[in-house]
Amino acid sequence: MNDRMDALRKAIGRLPRVDLCELPTPLHDCPRLAEAVGVERLCFKRDDLTGLALGGNKSRKFDFVFADALEKGADVVIAGAASQSNFSRQSAAAAAKLGLKCYLLNRLDARAELVGVQGNYLLDCILGADVWLVPQGYQGDAKRELAEELRTRGHKPYDLTANEAVFGTVAYANCLLELVDQLESEPEVIALCSGSGTQAGILLGLKALGIDTPVFGFRAAHGDDCRAAESIASLANKAAKLVGIEVHISPDEVHTSDAYVGEGYGIITEAGLEAIELIARSEGILIDPVYTAKAFSGVIDYVKQGRIASDSSVTFIHTGGAPALFAYSSELIDHGAYTQRVWNAGQAVL
Ligand SMILES: *Cc1c(COP(=O)(O)O)cnc(C)c1O
Repeated sequence: MNDRMDALRKAIGRLPRVDLCELPTPLHDCPRLAEAVGVERLCFKRDDLTGLALGGNKSRKFDFVFADALEKGADVVIAGAASQSNFSRQSAAAAAKLGLKCYLLNRLDARAELVGVQGNYLLDCILGADVWLVPQGYQGDAKRELAEELRTRGHKPYDLTANEAVFGTVAYANCLLELVDQLESEPEVIALCSGSGTQAGILLGLKALGIDTPVFGFRAAHGDDCRAAESIASLANKAAKLVGIEVHISPDEVHTSDAYVGEGYGIITEAGLEAIELIARSEGILIDPVYTAKAFSGVIDYVKQGRIASDSSVTFIHTGGAPALFAYSSELIDHGAYTQRVWNAGQAVL
């Protein structure tokens, strides 16, 4: 196994990268949470602590994405996702650190209309990004228009969203190496919020090491599970090619589910709200309303259903996103019935 780990490390090490992240991220044992959920052991791989402006899983891939941007002579980067995007916030931070101009063409979505400049959006602004809200369905055109205009002004724009998923996959194969080192053994069960590169990379890493740990991925948006599995497998295979390793993953090896999304992307669920409070109160760890809360509500339910055995040791990859909590304050306040209580002298009522 050590030989295989060295080979994978070497393969990943051949890709150009910049140093944006604080790696390895810590692995935290969560005994009180394990007991509450009903498993033998539960660890959090703290990728919310990657180090760049409140962290998250995007920073890992930006080590590679920004190296590519710099290699291509870019002086401006362009990104754009949801108004509360963690991708956008980490783009703004990475650009700031490297002295590049960052444009964010984020969606004019329901959350932007509801809370405006708050949470990740507030941080985008503090980090100096030029933030625009683009009506639904127009983001692609807006990106092309902006890039065109920048080119005519003599700039060299780079689209951060063009090729990022494959770099994210490589980055998460590297995360898997860290995890095996930290656990000092093969992981027993891995669970995470599955979108694209994060799960693909973990699966690629496991396969490259010859480990068949089950990986349960829970998505943050609705979609066909089979098609999601196909796209994750195909990303893993692309990344294997990119780093030159002989690994193949087929879609039936990918477990990804949208069963805990609830109404839709960016709409918090009751089970998600409960997961946020449970983890905060048993371990002092903050998860996020859009991704990790839904994923962890999946973990809780899988343990209840016996799909994750109660005698297992589970590692949850905390992919970050907690800055969005502030953009969901009204749902959190309602759920927890948080009130402002003013202490009056001599009126101690507990
Ligand atoms: C983006 C994001 C994910 C999904 O990541 P992929 O790169 O699509 O795998 C999961 N969790 C959080 C908090 C995210 O911001």
